[in-house]
Amino acid sequence: MSRKIILLVVASIVGLIALSLIQARLIQNTYDLRKEALIDTTSEMVGKIGNYGTSIDSISDAISNTFLKDLDAYSIQMLPKEKLLNRLREINDSLNPRFIVEYEKEMKSKNLNFDLKYHKILESIILVDSLKTDTIFYDKNSSKFKLVGYEFQNDPELRLGTSTWETNRTFQRKIKGELKKGNYDVVFKTVNYMNIDEANSIILNEMRGLLISSCCIFLFVIGLFYYSIKNLITQKKIADVKTDFINNITHELKTPLATLSLATKMLKKQDINAQNNFVESTIETIERQNIRLQKLVDQVLNNSLGYNEIELQKETVNLNDFVLEIVDDFLISNKDITLTNVMCDYDVLIEVDKFYMSTVLSNILENAVKYGGTELEVQLNHNKGVEVIIADNGIGISKKDIQQIFNKFFRAENKDIHNVKGLGLGLYYSNQIIKAHNGTISVKSEKGKGTTFNIKLPLD
Ligand code: ADP
Repeated sequence: MSRKIILLVVASIVGLIALSLIQARLIQNTYDLRKEALIDTTSEMVGKIGNYGTSIDSISDAISNTFLKDLDAYSIQMLPKEKLLNRLREINDSLNPRFIVEYEKEMKSKNLNFDLKYHKILESIILVDSLKTDTIFYDKNSSKFKLVGYEFQNDPELRLGTSTWETNRTFQRKIKGELKKGNYDVVFKTVNYMNIDEANSIILNEMRGLLISSCCIFLFVIGLFYYSIKNLITQKKIADVKTDFINNITHELKTPLATLSLATKMLKKQDINAQNNFVESTIETIERQNIRLQKLVDQVLNNSLGYNEIELQKETVNLNDFVLEIVDDFLISNKDITLTNVMCDYDVLIEVDKFYMSTVLSNILENAVKYGGTELEVQLNHNKGVEVIIADNGIGISKKDIQQIFNKFFRAENKDIHNVKGLGLGLYYSNQIIKAHNGTISVKSEKGKGTTFNIKLPLD
């Protein structure tokens, strides 16, 4: 990948991350706001409990009346502190079930679609008379002494505030026939908490639309980003392939054109009648180079054909003879090559287009030599279909390149073999021809050890 593309990918990823962080922050803000709104409405509801509910009022009155009587006894040392507090706990515990029933009735009338609980915790009781200020109870964290309500863990976010009940009390009591009078002020502080079961899921449920659309937009942007980068890389690859192709074809055309120009120059110079042999061999050179140029042009023209555009003219051939003919032709121009062939010892008749099929086999044989092969083996197998195997001991193909070998214009980088000419079209075209025959072509190779091509053709 080029530096520019890498920079673009990195910049886009950074942009995407920044965008997702901003999105996450916005969602978090919305969540917080919704939670605040939920707490506000629920605390308002809970705050109203007892204001209008006479039944709950009467429970509170019952508790405070009993407690004040106990407090009278405490103020004249007739009830120890511990007992006073125990009795307060007992009164609350005994009246709590009634409180819960009344509370639930009120909640039902509010038609809430979630569970809203409530409890009252004692924070402090301070008694002040003419002689002293007596802190009967004080709990800084307001967590130890539950008065009425449900059992649940206090959440500081769901604290409803403190309520203070202050009263001046004057009483008289007969003790051992003697009338005793008393007067004191009492300050009774409680902290109220509420509890919303599954508050998080309630809020998330309310935000469902927003969350789903955010996720969709996010996925859409990622998809778009992926698609654009992929497109960019493909475009870059195509541009590279085109440049390679132009370089290769220029290189390929140069040699025959140079030879042709040299040959014509020489023909011009020579006394034609005097040197008949020379003229003949020069004409042969011109012919050879002309064929080469023709082949090149054909290759370029044919590469635009897909396998379904190739028009086959099939005829029945004996594959043993057909392959041997091509091998023999090949050996005439490749005299240094050692070639073993293993044919079937009976006739294998198959319908193929002779012209196209010989192009495929010649391509593979020529490649074998081009890419370093000196010992070749051609084998014919006949099973359900037929198999033509061509193996060489050349430079081989790396694992990375092998998947691309049949792609248009693909040429592996062959550092070991210099100046090997080609357009990267031979195998692409061969594959199209085999596909047009309803067959398959595959390759196995190990770098440095050689390559084996396997062509499978059906016997229709
Ligand atoms: P080219 O014109 O480059 O030979 P081909 O389509 O025939 O184009 O082959 C594509 C690439 O496959 C070649 O450039 C070469 O790297 C690799 N290749 C093909 N045949 C062989 C082989 N027998 N041994 C090693 N590499 C091969």
